[in-house]
Amino acid sequence: MVEFPAPERLAQLADKFEGKPPEQLLTWAIETYHPKLVLFLSLGGAGGMVIADILLGLNSEVPVAYIDTGLLFAETYDFIKTFTEKYGVAPVPVRTELSLEQQAQRFGEKLWEREPDRCCALRKVAPQREFLKDYGAWITGIRRDQASTRSQTSLIEWDAAGGLAKINPLAGWTERDVWRYVADHGVPTNPLLSQGYASIGCTPCTRPVASGEDSRAGRWSGFGKTECGLHINPTNANANSNRK
Ligand code: SF4
Repeated sequence: MVEFPAPERLAQLADKFEGKPPEQLLTWAIETYHPKLVLFLSLGGAGGMVIADILLGLNSEVPVAYIDTGLLFAETYDFIKTFTEKYGVAPVPVRTELSLEQQAQRFGEKLWEREPDRCCALRKVAPQREFLKDYGAWITGIRRDQASTRSQTSLIEWDAAGGLAKINPLAGWTERDVWRYVADHGVPTNPLLSQGYASIGCTPCTRPVASGEDSRAGRWSGFGKTECGLHINPTNANANSNRK
């Protein structure tokens, strides 16, 4: 059985990669965890695409997955085709078995308008947790500059809820760094990002942002909620709340 680094070693390992190009961390991640390594792609942000571009250039066999809540924008579903054509890799959809109709029968219509935390737990967190049981580490595109809830993000963390390592190669990058890479390398991004959306999730919970607004202000607008739950560690579990 393959031995992965112990959880208590991850912080020390992360320090080694601080300030280094993400290629170095991703190369280490592949050597350490592949084939038990997966990139969870956010199709609604540019950061995940930057990571995919670097990662698949290093090893095109690392699987790429995304969460399909059944409520993504048509543009996002179309963008998956663009991704597949560009990289020759089809992202794996991760879905709950609970259909939208079943959800409405059990919890009422438009659960996202009343209890978005529960809706995200059902449609995003639970299926992702189930999927990750087969892996030793997952890669994300989150950055410290995206939100206060992410300001302490380490390059390598222990995901206690999932029981696996979490690798955040762009934790120390800024939004400007991301867009510079996109421009320099011709990386495709979700077309909605050029239509006023700064962060794109499900259709009912995403709106364009006004100039000067926080990049995540367009998510769950009207609620105190800022995270879907995928990136909440026990130390910042109070990041979400009900309607403002
Ligand atoms: Fe439900 Fe909105 Fe969360 Fe999507 S983002 S799972 S619609 S609450």
